[in-house]
Amino acid sequence: MGKKILLEHINVPGIETFDVYRKQGGYTAVEKAIKTMTPDEVVEEVKKSGVRGRGGAGFPMGMKWSFLAKPEGVPRYLVCNADESEPGTFKDHYLMKHIPHLLIEGMIVSSFALGANKSFIYVRGELMYVIYILERAIEEAKAKGFLGKNILGSGYDLELIVQPGGGAYICGEETALLESLEGKRGNPRNKPPFPAVKGLYQSPTVVNNVESIATTPWIINNGGDAYAAVGISRSTGTKLISASGHIKKPGVYEIELGVPVEEFIYSDEWCGGIRDGHYLKAVVAGGSSVPILPANLILKLANNEPRLMTYESLSDGGFQTGTMLGSGGFIVFDETACIVRNTWNFSRFYHHESCGQCSPCREGTGWMEKVLHRIEHGHGHMHDIDLLVDVARKIEGNTICPLGDAAAWPVASAIRHFREEFEWHVTHPQEATQPGAVYKGE
Ligand code: NAD
Ligand code: SF4
Repeated sequence: MGKKILLEHINVPGIETFDVYRKQGGYTAVEKAIKTMTPDEVVEEVKKSGVRGRGGAGFPMGMKWSFLAKPEGVPRYLVCNADESEPGTFKDHYLMKHIPHLLIEGMIVSSFALGANKSFIYVRGELMYVIYILERAIEEAKAKGFLGKNILGSGYDLELIVQPGGGAYICGEETALLESLEGKRGNPRNKPPFPAVKGLYQSPTVVNNVESIATTPWIINNGGDAYAAVGISRSTGTKLISASGHIKKPGVYEIELGVPVEEFIYSDEWCGGIRDGHYLKAVVAGGSSVPILPANLILKLANNEPRLMTYESLSDGGFQTGTMLGSGGFIVFDETACIVRNTWNFSRFYHHESCGQCSPCREGTGWMEKVLHRIEHGHGHMHDIDLLVDVARKIEGNTICPLGDAAAWPVASAIRHFREEFEWHVTHPQEATQPGAVYKGE
């Protein structure tokens, strides 16, 4: 079994309660940080750990913390992004549901490090029962003196507020989330200024993902260097992966970064292989916002070396920025999956979720959805395929927030790697529109 940092105690009965979590060593990081360390020392350990943002962008967490502006007399905020809505991603949901005190403990340690006295967990609105779980955990922690006024007699105060979101995907974008938290429509803001300078109520704010915050208790208990020793190169630590699709064992897995993709798919410890009688066709490795790769490219790099589950190894999918490890939403397709239909499906999602503020995204996602719809339904033309590539290019890099890029990349990559499937839909409309029809190669 690989190294476990977040899910080590997940199967302990009653781990969702304060008493059981505490018996497993819970809240010792809060004691250590608040009683024996300065906030800057906590920040230093997180920097040393090399942990990168687990929401999708992979931005170094310690560096983000060190960007936080500290003007005299202005409050600072920590906001946990628990608005997990990326198709194929369900690991934060899992963590909050099963081991809520890990997030609460991480919030206390992180808020202390950043000098925040009021912090928020913004939870996807559809997860009402998770909100109740978190609220109960907060009450328990408060009753034991780990939250509220004068925590553990240190003079440090922290109020922790759980805020339900309204169910819009765009509110997971950090600045849209802040707008929503302020009670406004969740429209993304232009960056810069980054939230670290002007965030919630125009005050310096750090926005971190659930999984990122949940790593901090282990880092404080064991040291940043110990965390950096897990994983490989600049991909330190472990990562939660939400595995779904045509595999034998879908679920949430904690892997040490650096596991070969092939091993992750075929080992019984994780996905258990492709369902019986079928074979691997393609993978979307990091949630629907990253490119789709065919089997040969997801398993091996261009130099024929094995591709690894790391930020670096999953970064040459032909798109300019970011990493295909993304949010860790690992979606596996076997040969029964129609790439055109899947691309149309993703496109429909982004068109629906676009906030409409910028024209390339508002109009472009609509165009892509419409064109993909007609190809999928047997009314496409050959020039539609290049039209899709052209629209995707015009969206990429020309929008306020990453939703535009996220809508463009799946379309562009699907055409780059599976062009013949799109062409077959155009040239064989009768066959392609039969229920369950899939291109099988010429
Ligand atoms: P980003 O690269 O713009 O920013 C990363 C983080 O670093 C942000 O918090 C940003 O404020 C901070 N940052 C970057 N440069 C900075 C600077 N100079 N000063 C201060 N702070 C700085 O990406 P993002 O918008 O945070 O995230 C995009 C990713 O989110 C996509 O890759 C996608 O995979 C993922 N995503 C995840 C979900 C989910 O449900 N988990 C949903 C949608 C998208
Ligand atoms: Fe809104 Fe799309 Fe522009 Fe983002 S890219 S601000 S979702 S219109």
